[in-house]
Amino acid sequence: MTLHSKTALVTGSTSGIGLAIARGLAQQGANVVINGFGQPDAIEKERAGIEAEFGVRAVYSGADMSKGDEIAAMVAQAETDFGAVDILVNNAGIQYVSAIEEFPVEKWDQIIAINLSSAFHTMRAAIPGMKKKGWGRIINTASAHSLVASPFKAAYVAAKHGIAGLTKTAALELATHKITVNCISPGYVWTPLVEAQIPDTMKARGMTKDQVIEEVLLKAQPTKEFVTVDQVAAIAAFLCSDAASQITGANLTVDGGWTAQ
Ligand code: NAD
Repeated sequence: MTLHSKTALVTGSTSGIGLAIARGLAQQGANVVINGFGQPDAIEKERAGIEAEFGVRAVYSGADMSKGDEIAAMVAQAETDFGAVDILVNNAGIQYVSAIEEFPVEKWDQIIAINLSSAFHTMRAAIPGMKKKGWGRIINTASAHSLVASPFKAAYVAAKHGIAGLTKTAALELATHKITVNCISPGYVWTPLVEAQIPDTMKARGMTKDQVIEEVLLKAQPTKEFVTVDQVAAIAAFLCSDAASQITGANLTVDGGWTAQ
């Protein structure tokens, strides 16, 4: 499989799953646009590391995925830099854990904007270029929470169910354009996003850290193991291959059996 001469834009790729996906696509030869927040020197180290390790071009966009105008500018800049966005990975996401009646309104708005609406904004900007080239891959990082719910994650579960629906709609609209649209739904992957929600879950459920890991996180996952970022990245790379050209509108679970229950 080779993605030489392709360009991949991966939102939320300064950390965790997005970074692994960006590196995985670069390994296949794609130029990459990485995006997300973090320490400038750490981001530059990752960007330069991708170029050095995989012999591709990597550029960084600091666009805020909660802002439609910044998203449009990011896609336009990628098209100027590389000629096209061939592969779009909507991965940026945040979490907040709280009962609905105490859920801060601004957190609801932020999660819906970053975890759901950003994918609409990136798609509407990138699809015309993909149609012009007659090839494209759109991959959305959804979640097991696109299929099932957990208490205290109202905004996240709503946004992830939304992204699963957006994926299916876009797949149907683009089916005859050689553009596939799929989502990957991981179970618990050990990343900063999961680690950061442990204190709030401890508070919301009155548990210790070990209890949250054993009785909340891994309880849902029959394999009793965390998914790795590289396992998710491998599926994203496969979805970009010719072998996957007839996979569209799918929601691919990587959840250790969680949603089989
Ligand atoms: P992470 O916290 O390691 O990474 C999130 C990335 O999104 C970072 O690069 C961060 O800077 C970026 N980001 C956050 N807000 C942003 C904004 N406003 N604009 C631009 N970038 C922003 O988390 P992760 O676990 O790698 O999560 C990545 C995706 O995977 C998310 O959509 C998440 O919902 C999904 N997911 C994660 C898990 C898990 O267990 N970790 C499971 C299922 C789905």
